Amino acid sequence: MTILSEPSTSEFDQQHLWHPYASLPPTYPNIVIDHADGIYIVTQDGTRLIDGMSSWWASVHGYNHPKLNAAIIKQLGKMAHVMFGGLTHQPAIDLGEKLLAIVPAGLDAIFYADSGSIAVEVALKMALQYQIAAKRPSKQQFASTHSGYYGDTWHAMSVCDPINGMHSLYGKQLPMQHFVAAPPLGFERDLTQSERDELINFFAKDSDKLAGFIIEPIIQGAGGMRFYSPEYLQLLRQLCDEHDVVLIADEIATGFGRSGKLFACEHAGISPDIMTIGKALTGGYMTFAATLCTRTIADTISQSDYPAFMHGPTFMGNPLACAVACASIDLILSYDIEARTANMQAIMEQQLEPAALLNGVAEVRCLGAVAVIELKTSVDVPVFQSLLIDNGIWVRPFGKLVYIMPPFVITDAELVTLCQSLLTVVRIYLTKQGQL
Ligand SMILES: *Cc1c(COP(=O)(O)O)cnc(C)c1O
Repeated sequence: MTILSEPSTSEFDQQHLWHPYASLPPTYPNIVIDHADGIYIVTQDGTRLIDGMSSWWASVHGYNHPKLNAAIIKQLGKMAHVMFGGLTHQPAIDLGEKLLAIVPAGLDAIFYADSGSIAVEVALKMALQYQIAAKRPSKQQFASTHSGYYGDTWHAMSVCDPINGMHSLYGKQLPMQHFVAAPPLGFERDLTQSERDELINFFAKDSDKLAGFIIEPIIQGAGGMRFYSPEYLQLLRQLCDEHDVVLIADEIATGFGRSGKLFACEHAGISPDIMTIGKALTGGYMTFAATLCTRTIADTISQSDYPAFMHGPTFMGNPLACAVACASIDLILSYDIEARTANMQAIMEQQLEPAALLNGVAEVRCLGAVAVIELKTSVDVPVFQSLLIDNGIWVRPFGKLVYIMPPFVITDAELVTLCQSLLTVVRIYLTKQGQL
């Protein structure tokens, strides 16, 4: 590994550009990236970093992919955009057909949105408008579990974890929702009777007020990188049915193979009433998302006193995004995704296992193409990040969590390198922090 000088940064960037969850200027500078290719992100001074993040779950086919590039270029020659009000186009139709062929059974109508958070806003509005149309006017609030993450817009934020989310920052203006304990940790563990009762009692108490229950199936992402049992989702499906609560599955992070199944709901064999997708939908090329719902929900809204669903983004159904999403789905379907992610899980488990023995590490866990090293104390990101760069990998820890969700195109040998470099970084970091 060649260790170059400090990676390049930009004075303009530091003074004028906000970055995610950051102050201005930031507490430490952002690294300037010149280009990215395959599984590598290349900084302006030429340092090549193996991408362990897939740019936040999105770039699942790696960067600069010839098939995805070609799909966008082809569509660009026809039209970059056209309004979706009163008009439609082939890329939107093709994408709809591809999606309905692969999503959980029963989902039958699609609303194209511009980002994950917007897809969640649309899902919440849809559930509420459905309950009003179904003449259940008392059902106007939402429920979720602790440790959830659904995006940063107003109502998406209101259903995020009420403690590690941003609730305290925005005070009383944020709508009050209902929260039950986080699903018990452990993908393979059965629920105890008292854990089942907790959810059952929650519905018995509050469901007359609930329009919908939103949850990330099987993997809770940004709210804690937690994996939980399919049995929990099955119980939740049953309770939502019994109490006329719309079940909203947020598959924005888990969708398109990340959990080991094409959609994480498949682990439990359930179908939600509403499902959101985003992130990997365009293979990480463009901001795009969708909210899918059942025919019952679409019909109930469309046959009500107010027979239209009231949302319509300017860039709805953007043709470039639809075209690249079609190409991305074709690639996913060409991979044998369950075998590929099972193989990634086996490699990550084996390679990262030694981390579990380190003093400063609380736990190592893997599911599908996601691996998490949970430390005992919060990561000092600037210190950790410079070690990552020195070791040629890109990972972005938050809180106590160091985690990877590599592109599906990574080879076995490259994945071993990524894991071994990460292990080295964790070891050096913990030694520096006096925690080894
Ligand atoms: C990232 C994410 C969102 C928000 O998506 P954006 O495109 O960032 O708005 C919503 N839900 C889940 C589960 C996510 O991981």
